Amino acid sequence: MSIRLEQLTKSFGGQRVVKSTSLEVRDGEVFVLLGASGSGKSTILRLIAGLSAPDSGRIQLHGRDVTDLPPQERGIGFVFQNYSIFRHMSVAENIEFPLKIRKVAGPERTRRREQLLDLVGLGGLGNRYAHQLSGGQQQRVALARALVHEPSVLLLDEPFGALDVKIRGQLRRNLKEIQRQLGVTAILVTHDQEEAFELADRVGLMERGELLEVGEPEALYARPLTFFGATFLGAGTVLVGRARDGAAQLGALSLPIPPEVEHEEDARVRVLVRPEQVALSAEPPERGVRLLGRGTIVEQSFLGALRRLRVRLPAIPGTRQASPAVYGEESLLVDAVLPAGEDLSGPEVWVSLKGWHILAPPRPRILACDLPDAGSPAPFALLQALEGPLDARISLLSVTDDTDRVEALRASQTERAAAHGLPDAEPVVRRGEPVAEIAAEQVQSLYDFLVLKTPESGPSEVLGGILATLSTPLLAVQEAPASFARILICTAVGEPGKADVRVGGWLARRLGAEVTLLHVLLDGGEPAPWVKAHLDAGLATLRALEVTSRTALRPARTAVQGILDEAKEGDYDLIVLGRHAASRPAAGRSRRHDFTFEILSGSGKSLLIVPPDQ
Ligand code: ADP
Ligand code: MG
Repeated sequence: MSIRLEQLTKSFGGQRVVKSTSLEVRDGEVFVLLGASGSGKSTILRLIAGLSAPDSGRIQLHGRDVTDLPPQERGIGFVFQNYSIFRHMSVAENIEFPLKIRKVAGPERTRRREQLLDLVGLGGLGNRYAHQLSGGQQQRVALARALVHEPSVLLLDEPFGALDVKIRGQLRRNLKEIQRQLGVTAILVTHDQEEAFELADRVGLMERGELLEVGEPEALYARPLTFFGATFLGAGTVLVGRARDGAAQLGALSLPIPPEVEHEEDARVRVLVRPEQVALSAEPPERGVRLLGRGTIVEQSFLGALRRLRVRLPAIPGTRQASPAVYGEESLLVDAVLPAGEDLSGPEVWVSLKGWHILAPPRPRILACDLPDAGSPAPFALLQALEGPLDARISLLSVTDDTDRVEALRASQTERAAAHGLPDAEPVVRRGEPVAEIAAEQVQSLYDFLVLKTPESGPSEVLGGILATLSTPLLAVQEAPASFARILICTAVGEPGKADVRVGGWLARRLGAEVTLLHVLLDGGEPAPWVKAHLDAGLATLRALEVTSRTALRPARTAVQGILDEAKEGDYDLIVLGRHAASRPAAGRSRRHDFTFEILSGSGKSLLIVPPDQ
């Protein structure tokens, strides 16, 4: 193994820029770190080179631990993005420089210099200076200089970033050739997917300081694990359906989930369809084809050999679109490609799938509202307790109506989060009014939980507004408990969906909590058979999740009263309620009499409020 990184971390100003990254690069391999700007790629290269020291973790090069060695003792060649050749030295002097500082004798320096000049295709240009060279030639000099002392590892940080497209292509091919000839192990950093695919033996995909997945270009393109991989690497459509009986259900279409993809019954499943996997036809397709639906071509672009088409399909029940992003619409957009010569007779087409790929279940995402001005700062202790067991990614949302404060808020949030033991939390700052922005954030990004601390003064207007626009399960936290060990799930027969049992059970499983499934009997007497059947179904769901659970039947005059009595006696840490149309306040009825509010203020406990499935 040429390069081995073990749990490297690095922070700047409290923000974790590299999050516990481990990686192995094989001998002679070209490994490309690909990610958007700011994802931490350059920082990793600088750590390997010794230009910057990690906060924790180890670096090994060819089996030697170099973590504490200075750069010149690591045997590394480095090419930077911006032409980094010395302007006061000739090309020859530039290339010889690393040999000079290593005290290599004159004749040997000359021999190696000439060899490298030839290798990078600059033979005869040794006497020129930077201002007499094109950008491409300068980068060739930089490459020659990085290689002349025969490093065991070559690091290249966006080496072609500043060059125009044609020269870039040429240099890529040269680089690949030179690397093969020398057999030097290389890590190249880029934000350009095409460059990554062209150069890499393997690609590592970086997002926000995290190395999300690693693989050979074709495998990463065809079978990414993550949503980021699916959308950052090339075009495609990601649809979100539900897992039923080992298949992803997109309306009437059922796509088998391969055994290696872990999934829980009824959980959301994300299906990636690359444009070349979409078949379009003017005539209804034959039976047996995986038909998604019938739609209208809304966009076309000519790409030379291919034509890219975007088709709009009417809404499919139980199916949402995650990419390409569509806001505030129910219809779906599917991207396809056709050979440029092929013609479809009209804008109406049948859309079927020739292939698809099921993404791995995502790490859960928590959106925590941090609204100190509204008396509702983020419950940091609880978030810290949830982060590990849920393996969750936490975003901290604050909202301001002051444009000038956005950047300052983001910075202060990062610091606050780090100070509260959440250095990986992602700050999200939105401009506007809290209720509207919290609703918009839920729609624009998929979160699994929304977390809000209810103000000391009790349920507020803001909370009421959030409940009215809720599309994500909401943890309304009161006097933040350190953990949730006992969970009460309240369920009424005949409510639409069973999202509350599923979400409450999921949380209980991750937290190792016990669940009581409560039904309040309003009519007195013996429970009707369907009540028992309903509770048994809930219990079966919980047992399938391996959650210790029991049922409770409690007669009471009202559901609120029954729930409050049980909450008082059972010493629960969390009460789970479904939020269905019926539990919303009727027009003209005060929020104070809202079912959820009554239980919040009556019990003093934290609540998990689960909206019905979309
Ligand atoms: P990339 O190369 O993927 O664009 P970098 O590794 O350069 O990303 O930077 C990642 C983040 O780390 C940047 O957004 C920046 O905020 C931060 N960062 C990098 N270097 C420094 C530094 N020397 N001081 C402070 N912050 C830094
Ligand atoms: Mg960079």
